Amino acid sequence: MKKLLFGACMLTVLSACNQDNSTNPGENTIDESISAGLVQRGCASEEIRQEALKKNPELQQKFAALEINTEKFANDLKVGKVLADGTVEIPVVVNVVYKTTAENVSDARIAEQIAVLNADYSGTNSDVSKIPAEFQSVSSGDTKVKFRLVNTVRKSTTKTSWSTNDDMKKASKGGIDATNPTNYLNIWIVGKMTSQGRTILGYATFPESAGLWNDGVVIGAPYFGKTGASSPFNLGRTATHEVGHYLNLRHIWGDANCGNDQVSDTPTQTTANYGKPSYPLYNTCSGVQRSVMFMNYMDYVDDAAMFMFSSGQKTRMQSVVASSGARSGLRVY
Ligand SMILES: [Zn+2]
Repeated sequence: MKKLLFGACMLTVLSACNQDNSTNPGENTIDESISAGLVQRGCASEEIRQEALKKNPELQQKFAALEINTEKFANDLKVGKVLADGTVEIPVVVNVVYKTTAENVSDARIAEQIAVLNADYSGTNSDVSKIPAEFQSVSSGDTKVKFRLVNTVRKSTTKTSWSTNDDMKKASKGGIDATNPTNYLNIWIVGKMTSQGRTILGYATFPESAGLWNDGVVIGAPYFGKTGASSPFNLGRTATHEVGHYLNLRHIWGDANCGNDQVSDTPTQTTANYGKPSYPLYNTCSGVQRSVMFMNYMDYVDDAAMFMFSSGQKTRMQSVVASSGARSGLRVY
C-alpha cells in the first residue's frame, strides 16, 4: 500500500513537471515552424462561423435548429423509425374491443395482418404478378412505408354492435382510448359495425386528423387478418385500404361519378367496382373511354381482386410521412 501511494506521488510530481515545461527542448513551436518556412494545415471556417453567429441572431437560430434537426435524424435512425433506405416504419397499436371469443382476435392473427400490410405496402404481395401489363409501369412497387406492432390492448364489452360515431375510441363509452395518436397508428377492432343499416367493414381518419383523440383506423373483426376472417374479405385487404385513407389516399373513383382522386396515374372511372371484375373493364368519363384500375386497393373489389397501389398514390403517402408531412409524428416516439 505504502509503495503504491509513493508511486502515485511520483506520477503527480512528474506530470506537474511536464505541465510546467510544456515545450520540450528540441520541439519547434508553431511560430518557429512558420518562420522556418514549414506550413501547418489551418482552416478558418469555424472561427469565421463563430464571428458571424455572434453578430447575427437570425443565423444563430438557424444554427441551433440545424443541430436539433441533425440530432433528431440520428436518433430516428437509432430507434429504427426511418430505416437506412428511407423507409418510414410506422409503429402500430392494435386495440381489440370484443364481446365474443371470435371477436377477440388472436395475437397470431394480428401478426398476420401486420404481415399483409408490410407485403402490400412494399409491393411484395404474392399476387403482384397479376397486375396487368398496361398498369405495370405505374405500379408503386415499394411505397417505402412499413408497419411494426408495438402493443396490443384488449377490453371486453357487452356491446354487440357499433356505429361510426367513434365510441370504440372512448374508454368512457366502453371502448379504448387511443395511445398517443400523434406517434402511433391506432387500429381498433370491433365485432360488428353498421352505418345507416349497412354493415361497414372499416373506416379511417385522414391526415388532417393527425394526433386527434379519434385518429386511426377501425376494422370489423370478421375482416381483420386472414385466419378465421370472413370470405371474400379474408385476405387482410380491408386494413390495406383503410390505412391508405389514413395516409391520404382517396377512393379511386373520387367518391363521385367520374370523380377526382387527386392522383394522375389512376384512370378516371365512373364509380366503385365490386366483386371480382374481369380485366379489361372500360368506363367512359367526359366522352373518353378508359380501361380502369379496379385492382387498386382503393377500389371496393373483393380482397382477392385488389393487389396494387399506383406511383401517384405512393407519392401522396410519402408526402404525409415525410419529415415535413402531416404525419411526421409517426417517425418519432
Ligand atoms: Zn374507403
